[in-house]
Amino acid sequence: MNEVKSPKKPLIYYYIIAMLVVVLLNALLLPWIAKQQIVEVDYGTFISMTERNEIGGVQVQDNQIIFTGKDGRTVYKTGKMDDPDLVARLQASGAVYGKEIIEEASPLLSFLLSWILPMAMFIGIGQIVSKKMMKNAGGPNSMMFGMGKSNAKVYVKSSEGIKFSDVAGEDEAKENLTEIVDYLHNPGKYKEIGASMPKGILLVGPPGTGKTMLAKAVAGEANVPFFSISGSEFVEMFVGMGASKVRDLFRQAKEKAPCIVFIDEIDAIGKKRDGHIGGNDEREQTLNQLLTEMDGFEGNTGVIILAATNRPESLDPALTRPGRFDRRVPVELPDLKGREEILKVHAKKIKVEAGVDFSRIARMASGASGAELANIVNEAALRAVRDGRSKATQADLEESIEVVIAGYQKKNAILTDEEKLIVAYHEIGHALVAARQSNAAPVQKITIVPRTSGALGYTMQVEEGNHYLMTREEIEAKIATYTGGRAAEELIGSVTTGASNDIEQATKLARAMITRYGMSEEFDMVAMETVTNQYLGGDTSMACSPETQRQIDLKTVEVVKRQHALATKILTESRDKLDQLAKFLYEKETITGDEFMSILNQ
Ligand code: ADP
Repeated sequence: MNEVKSPKKPLIYYYIIAMLVVVLLNALLLPWIAKQQIVEVDYGTFISMTERNEIGGVQVQDNQIIFTGKDGRTVYKTGKMDDPDLVARLQASGAVYGKEIIEEASPLLSFLLSWILPMAMFIGIGQIVSKKMMKNAGGPNSMMFGMGKSNAKVYVKSSEGIKFSDVAGEDEAKENLTEIVDYLHNPGKYKEIGASMPKGILLVGPPGTGKTMLAKAVAGEANVPFFSISGSEFVEMFVGMGASKVRDLFRQAKEKAPCIVFIDEIDAIGKKRDGHIGGNDEREQTLNQLLTEMDGFEGNTGVIILAATNRPESLDPALTRPGRFDRRVPVELPDLKGREEILKVHAKKIKVEAGVDFSRIARMASGASGAELANIVNEAALRAVRDGRSKATQADLEESIEVVIAGYQKKNAILTDEEKLIVAYHEIGHALVAARQSNAAPVQKITIVPRTSGALGYTMQVEEGNHYLMTREEIEAKIATYTGGRAAEELIGSVTTGASNDIEQATKLARAMITRYGMSEEFDMVAMETVTNQYLGGDTSMACSPETQRQIDLKTVEVVKRQHALATKILTESRDKLDQLAKFLYEKETITGDEFMSILNQ
């Protein structure tokens, strides 16, 4: 979309221009007013001119002597010396002395030029600029110099605007928002039956899932102006400034109605007011103003407010009650089909070889957000260019998944042979435990090429379909797979630090089984932990007594230990396969899931 911005120059810009004008005036105009050009000469020249009777008039000043030639036109200047014979010599030369030669520039004029004019200019500029800002900011209520002005960017309708078709997947969200578009097109239909549109719609979901895109698409489809501002832009240093910005935003929006106002990262101003003394007054005032403004306009004025956040749980309940942000549209991570569609949408922007299997790429990139998928496609195109090809291939796309997940291949990370062998055993350990348990997803690829993220190797598993639920057995199998790397290291007698991430993941899962999923006998269906940050990493906070915590810790250890033992058992039983596969991986560095399976099934 076209962004329309009024050209805004900082105040300092006007002042610099004014300074330049004053300096130029002083440098050029004053000498011109002084009219005469003065030639500076040394004292010797003055004396010899006196002796040659070439001097017309002389004026002796405190620290200099000014004199003219015989014609009286050229004016000379020289320094004053202690010269007792001067008068006698001048007398002899017939010069006229004691008379004023130079007409000083009128003191009044130079005073005007060097003092009054600059001051007048500065005051004038100040007046003009402040008037202009007042006008923009909506009258005398607003702060001087636009401090209380909302700097929402206004996007106007344009043919190249984002449409719903650009946002792949997210069908439910799109369906939900289509109603808004329909309303903006034809409000009469809704008014007739007495329905009023929601004033505010909250888009919630993890980062990079297309919330901003969806908001733009609504505006693009409805062909109405789109105001976009980030929550953090409201938060200012001075109390009251943010509130003034909110007022201004709504005033502008009402003028342009029907229109869409999009507030990104609304949690920056919409956080729960905690009532702490000395809390964040500015933020709370801004939020209060937002609440007031949302109450202030009637449901059917045609201003629709969309807001996005990835921390819905932190929002003030007053903000989410009906009548304000009364509709919540989840924008979740895309599922398998969604991922495939997003890949296809972005692949249209680059040149891709015919016959690329996007569904396979989508399966490999399980858990990736829309933004990551867009990044994967772009990385593939970059890789093709790097290799001097004109089209991106399947291999480019597959490699770029790894780049986005694990970083670039480290060209000069030199592992010793022994380390490489341990990494190979470690990765095969994971893969073998996964493959031997029927519930584990098949392995796609195993590699021991170090990556810039610090991973020395990894096993890429592929989900065949969508998973919305996980059974207890699946979670346990996952924990066993995580412990498989270390179990393999133990079998060859080289326990290393390489398992730290596995340990973290296995512990997280085991703990969640007990504290959140009710999968332990002791604690039954009691929540011992609550998720505080659903969309940003899923942090949890404990909600139990210290004694219970201790028991949970012990129980967690028990769960992990059991799965670790299982992994060791599986690997011991398949020791020959473990050795064979590890050796194969050690030699080839990267093997595919098919190669792995064919050796395993030999
Ligand atoms: P959010 O606001 O949810 O953090 P954005 O809307 O800013 O995410 O998305 C960032 C980028 O990711 C977009 O510019 C787009 O290229 C890509 N993207 C995300 N989701 C989708 C989607 N569903 N379809 C197509 N592209 C997407």
